[in-house]
This record gives sequence, structure tokens and C-alpha cells, in this order.
Amino acid sequence: MDINTITILAYMVSAVLFIFGLKMLSKATTAVRGNLVSSLGMLIAIVATLIHAGMDYQWIIVGVLIGGIVGTVAALRVPMTSMPEFVALFNGTGGLASMLVGWSEYYHFYHKIGPYTVGTAGIDAGGPNVVNIIAIYLAVLIGGVTFTGSCIAYAKLAGKMNTKPILFSGQQVVNGLILVAVIVCGAVFIYDPEASLAQLLFYVAVVVSLVLGVMVTIPIGGADMPVVISLLNSYSGLAACAAGFVIDNTVLIVSGSLVGASGIVLTTIMCKAMNRSLANVLFSGFGSSEGATGAGGGGPQGEAKAISAEDAYYVLEAASSVVFVPGYGMAVAQAQHVVRELGELLEENGAEVKYAVHPVAGRMPGHMNVLLAEANVPYEQLVEMDDINPVIESIDVAIVIGANDVVNPAARDDPDSAIAGMPIINVDHARSCFVLKRSMRSGFAGVENPLFFKENTRMLFGDAKESITAIVNEFKGA
Ligand code: NDP
Repeated sequence: MDINTITILAYMVSAVLFIFGLKMLSKATTAVRGNLVSSLGMLIAIVATLIHAGMDYQWIIVGVLIGGIVGTVAALRVPMTSMPEFVALFNGTGGLASMLVGWSEYYHFYHKIGPYTVGTAGIDAGGPNVVNIIAIYLAVLIGGVTFTGSCIAYAKLAGKMNTKPILFSGQQVVNGLILVAVIVCGAVFIYDPEASLAQLLFYVAVVVSLVLGVMVTIPIGGADMPVVISLLNSYSGLAACAAGFVIDNTVLIVSGSLVGASGIVLTTIMCKAMNRSLANVLFSGFGSSEGATGAGGGGPQGEAKAISAEDAYYVLEAASSVVFVPGYGMAVAQAQHVVRELGELLEENGAEVKYAVHPVAGRMPGHMNVLLAEANVPYEQLVEMDDINPVIESIDVAIVIGANDVVNPAARDDPDSAIAGMPIINVDHARSCFVLKRSMRSGFAGVENPLFFKENTRMLFGDAKESITAIVNEFKGA
């Protein structure tokens, strides 16, 4: 068996491990093992590529050291609450890497430097074929869009930029012109990539792709952000797939396609969770329709009633069914461990306890599931929005922990609300509802929440971890 055959076999093993790993990631019980299986696949792919390429390893070692140091420092210093924006940034760096692969391969080809490619099939004769040329263009285009789009998503999630959509007159015209530039540059480049005009237009395309990333992301904001995050995730996979075609690397094509496809599936799930079509999210601007209100039907309706931890305890002590509804504030407060502790105390007290998770709660897909799993909340106690809503009227107490948009009844009741139509967890239909947050401020979408003024709602103001700890202490002291 020669080295090419061994490499191809190793890539097949990697691809199979990726597919099984991905499948296992879809269930909480097998997710950790799925992660390990996928990592093993990646290790095999990397080792096979390095041995096959037989290159000068010194630059690889320098790259591994720099990447390792940056990764370690980031992992140690970035707080858990900043994970969503860093995940957005990771997508962006994936896009940038694919863009640079495409760029460097074109540079080699245009300037006739060294063998064109060292892919699986060991192609190094005669330069790229038309598939490689198209792939170079797509890797640069999609990679560039992913990079700057992810930078904007990072800025919005990190609060370094207003989360509202940015819309201006003539935006569609500008976007149309950019699209024309993309098509013209691409056609000329692919027709004769060795011409000097093609080289010029290639660099124009690099700039245009970076601008396009900004232009497609700024009009999306507010509660539509989950769709952007999952879409950028998908783009980073497609860019990697294109980079795989650029260098004829099978395993990169397979892994890129898997990320691209799973990102699209996730995007569909997010759109469904918000009851929006993808086209509507991409082209209409969140809450920008005429008459859309941020106030959930014209401002506060009544007076919000506060409750103390002690009084909350008395209600909970008598409750026979309790559902926790976590949101972004639980991540900020890092309250998941005390929440689980309270859940256990309630169960010991005879109550049935559930955790209802909204698909877009938090700031990244699966955010709440990750936190609850970290706190060892039993998987069987987790329920989805569609399963809890039909029975929520029979629940004694719904405890909203730092959630806001995902429990905002304006989405259901006010057709003029900016989040109108977004399915919510109907906590206001429970017998009573405690909302744990620090103030009356609105959530990520900037929409006021009539839930706070409902007859059966009580506000437990303060940091969620402190509030839950106070209730836990009441239970323990009883
Ligand atoms: P929200 O952003 O709507 O609300 C979070 C609430 O938590 C705030 O109102 C805040 O109120 C409260 N809070 C913050 N810190 C604390 C604390 N320490 N203790 C107690 N409360 C706290 O979150 P939801 O999870 O309800 O909704 C998610 C929103 O984010 C949706 O609009 C979604 O579209 C969007 N989004 C989701 C993404 C995803 O992939 N899941 C990605 C990007 C955006 P106060 O300041 O008064 O304490």
C-alpha cells in the first residue's frame, strides 16, 4: 500500500468518525462521547495530512505554538458568559482561514511558485483545473463574508455595537451593486485566471467579499440574531468545503460539508423557533415594519408586584409542580448550580420539577442545555417549549430565571410588537409566575414585557444566583 492509499483510507476513517460524532452530539446523553469521537477523527485527519504532505514542519510547529498559546490564554481568560461572542469569532476565523487558503493557492498559481497543490491525490502537475479555480473564488468569497459577518455578530453579542438592525435608504441598491460586482469578478476570474485583469478583479473580489459580510449582517439584529449565528456557522463550513476543493483534500471537503449542512439545519430550527422564514429574517430587518412597537402594546400596563425570597419560599413550599424557565440572565449570574439545588429541594418536598428550555434562550444555540448539563440537571427533567405549553396551566409556579424575550406575552398577544409571532413559553398561563431579574429593563430584543404587570406575576428583584440562594437557604433553615 502506498502513502496515497493509506492517506485516503485514514481520511475515510476520519469522515466516518465525524459523521458518528455529529450524530452522537444530537443527544445530551451521548454528546460528550460524540465530541471525543469527532476529535479523534480530526486527530487522524491531521496526522495523515502531515505525514502525506511530508513538508517542512518548522512552520507547522510555529503555527501550533502560536495558536495553542492564543487558545489557552483565551480559554483561561474569557468568562463563560462571553462564550457566545467567542463562538461567533471562532466561526469568523474559520472563514478567514479558508479565504487565506484560496488566496495563497491563487498566488502560487499566478506567480508559478512551487507545486500547485499537495492534496489527497498528490496533484502537483499542470496547475489547477476549472473546479479548483471556481473553488478558489468561492473559498475567498464565502470565507470573506463569514469573517466580517462574524466580526459584526461578535460586536453585537459583546455589546460593543447596538444590537438593533442598521437600515438605510438605498441599502438594497448597494447590496445589488455588490452582487453584480461578485458575479462580474467571478466570471472574468474563472474565464482566464492567468490574465492580469483576472488578478486585479480577484483582489477586488477579496475586498467586496469583506464588505458583503458587513452588509448582510448589519440589517439583522434584535431577536433575529440566533439565525445569523447559525447561518455564519454554516457559511464557515461551506468556506472550508470550498477550501477542500481548492487543495483537493477529501477530508476537508467532507468536514466542511458536514458543518455547512448542520448549520443550515440549525438555521431552519432557529427560524422555526421564531416563526419566521429565512428570507424574512435576511431581508426585512427585525421589528422594522411600520408600527412595530418595542413597548409590547403601548408601555407598562399597571404596576409590577415585587416579592421577597422569604415569601417566594412560602409559595414554593406549598407548590406541587414547578417549572424553571432559564434565560440569558441565568448564564450571567452563573446560577445553574443553585437552580439545580433548589430543584432537588423542591423534589424532596414532594413537588414535580421540570426545566423548560426555549430554543433561542441565551445567546447561542443550545446555551441553556449546556449550562443545565454542566450543573448535572437530569436530562429527563428538561422539556421543550412545545411540550410544556399545552400543560403549563396545570403548573403551580413557573420560575423565570433571567429570561425575558422568550417569555414575553407581547409576542403572542400584540400583533404590532417587534417580536410578534415568535413562539414563547406561556409562563403567564401558569397558576403563578416568579420573574427573577435585577430591574425592569427589557431583554436582548429591546421589547418591553407585559408579563411583569400580570396579576399572577411576582418580581423577585436581584441577581438570579443570590435570589435562588436566598430561597435555598429558606428551605434549608425550615
Ligand atoms: P433576554 O436577553 O431577553 O433577557 C435576559 C434578562 O436577563 C434581561 O432582561 C436581564 O434583566 C436579565 N439578567 C441579566 N443578568 C442577570 C442576573 N445576573 N440576574 C438576574 N437576571 C439577569 O434573554 P432570553 O434568554 O429570554 O432571550 C434570548 C434573546 O437573545 C432573544 O431575543 C434571542 O433572539 C436573542 N439571541 C439568542 C441567541 C441564541 O442563539 N440563543 C443568539 C443571539 C441573540 P436585568 O438587566 O433587569 O437583570
